[in-house]
Amino acid sequence: MDYEIVIGLEVHCQLLTQTKIFCGCSTHFGNPPNQNTCPVCTGMPGALPVLNRKVVDFAIRAGLATDCQITPSSVFARKNYFYPDLPKGYQISQFELPICVDGHLDIEVDNQKKRIGITRIHMEEDAGKLVHPEHVHGVSYVDYNRACVPLIEIVSEPDMRSSAEAVAYLKALRDIVVYLGVCDGNMEEGSFRCDANISLRRWGAPELGTRAELKNMNSFRNVQRAIEYEVERQRDILDEGGRVVQETRLWDVDRGVSALMRGKEEAHDYRYFPDPDLLPVVVDEAWVEKVRQSLPELPVARCQRIVADFAIPVADAEVLTADRAMADYFEAVVKLFPQPKAAANWIMVELMKFLNEDKISVTQCPITPQGLADLLGLIGDNTISGKIGKQVFSKMYSAADNDPRQIVEDQGLAQMSDAGELAVIVDEIIDANDDKVKDYQQGKVKLFGFFVGQVMKKTKGQANPQMVNSLLKEKIG
Ligand SMILES: [Zn+2]
Repeated sequence: MDYEIVIGLEVHCQLLTQTKIFCGCSTHFGNPPNQNTCPVCTGMPGALPVLNRKVVDFAIRAGLATDCQITPSSVFARKNYFYPDLPKGYQISQFELPICVDGHLDIEVDNQKKRIGITRIHMEEDAGKLVHPEHVHGVSYVDYNRACVPLIEIVSEPDMRSSAEAVAYLKALRDIVVYLGVCDGNMEEGSFRCDANISLRRWGAPELGTRAELKNMNSFRNVQRAIEYEVERQRDILDEGGRVVQETRLWDVDRGVSALMRGKEEAHDYRYFPDPDLLPVVVDEAWVEKVRQSLPELPVARCQRIVADFAIPVADAEVLTADRAMADYFEAVVKLFPQPKAAANWIMVELMKFLNEDKISVTQCPITPQGLADLLGLIGDNTISGKIGKQVFSKMYSAADNDPRQIVEDQGLAQMSDAGELAVIVDEIIDANDDKVKDYQQGKVKLFGFFVGQVMKKTKGQANPQMVNSLLKEKIG
């Protein structure tokens, strides 16, 4: 391609506070419309905002985790525009003096490490929501439950050069805010949402090209598709000698295309000015230090430590540490059953399969780390085979009482390791398959697997496989 792709991202994270940013209303999602409201968040004249300290804590957390400078005195500003979901007629945000500046985040794409600059992180309130019921025409309802819910906006430098880099950055950022406990990271429900600024320029050109802004991408996959679509669109314009115009475009998930939302001439002039109802936010060194002390180990550091401590592949460690609770679970299992690779495999294959099917988090998993460690112990000491282990696992998952030893005992699942008993079964199989024994002995060595399979079938998978192998070798050569 003749052009370099330039991408910058703006990410809004809804913060996991109990109450709103400027009033005591609940942030609980899913309540009946307008239940979580008061004069402040519905913009009644004379109602005054009071800043939620927790929001500042969370913004500092996000800033420290992305190596930002924390601004000693930041300022809330009014961003003025008129829309029915915004009862005050302005949104309280931060403009010239945001709380965090000059950070960065490291990503890796195709084994290439890259540092993406973070311009700023600022605090702001969310707007309400317009509701258009499907069967009622000509009516808009408004729900202010979300009005005044706290957000941070994380703005990157235009440092990304491909859709893959943009997705890697977003994933890394989401992992961090989820680890920090400041945001649940849910893209589909919109608590972690992203706008992308995209432009193209000729290789080596000093100036950035004219950018278009993309909105409404609610999954990593859509971010990738939308950026790729936009790159194509701009390239076609430039190839035909045209000029890209500055505009905002909405991604249409179903059709896989973007459409014009508004052009530059329709862009708002927000007439920002400092909010006279709110004092500057003064954060002293002691406050920053207190937050710094409370930071958890972050995903990248944890992944590196897990690879070093437990000698498991990087790819496994990445899967296990993508979710903080999952990483906790893994480490708890390994503490009880110190064979990390086996524990990692069982968690990534069996456990995640069940959790994904039920769409639940590992924190809601019915199998405790102790339970899984006990099960792995039974497999490790040959009480049961790995295959039976999977059956026991599935029973543990759905049973109220999920002690694997008890399940193995109650259901008689212990491995058959009695040589005499197994020899009888092996003989039966040999006798019943005369012709196949002959074929085998005349060189059809692949048939060995058939005999093993028959013994396993007869014993419902409980025969000790090594013993079956050696008995068969002994008897049919
Ligand atoms: Zn309120």
